[in-house]
Amino acid sequence: MASDDTVPDNASRCPCDSGDTFGACCGPVLAGAPAPTAERLMRSRYTAFVLQDDVYLLDSWHASTRPDELELDRDLEWRRLVIVDRVAGGPFDREGVVEFEAFWSQGAQRGSLRERSRFARDGRRWQYVDGRVG
Ligand SMILES: [Zn+2]
Repeated sequence: MASDDTVPDNASRCPCDSGDTFGACCGPVLAGAPAPTAERLMRSRYTAFVLQDDVYLLDSWHASTRPDELELDRDLEWRRLVIVDRVAGGPFDREGVVEFEAFWSQGAQRGSLRERSRFARDGRRWQYVDGRVG
């Protein structure tokens, strides 16, 4: 889990831009509740990037593709998330695809990352498999 001073209050706006509160969106997922859909898992991983929660990022990564460690860029700030497309990834699917664009800033620089990510469900738990940047 990220250090306490970076974790948002449950009543505050969720960093993933769902429009919901942190306590009703990514908060419980980051705390260990299974994400019901691939999109919810993707959103929680975006929020984990915002909060620099590398433990959760590795935890939600499929064992077949998970890196040994994750080096997060401490001065890169993730500012906004837009979901572009989603395929399957529902509570009864085994696989899902979510395409998103995530906007960042680093000092005076601004940019965005667009990725089409694949997810797999194992039991009740969705995990990130891999992604195609483009
Ligand atoms: Zn969220």
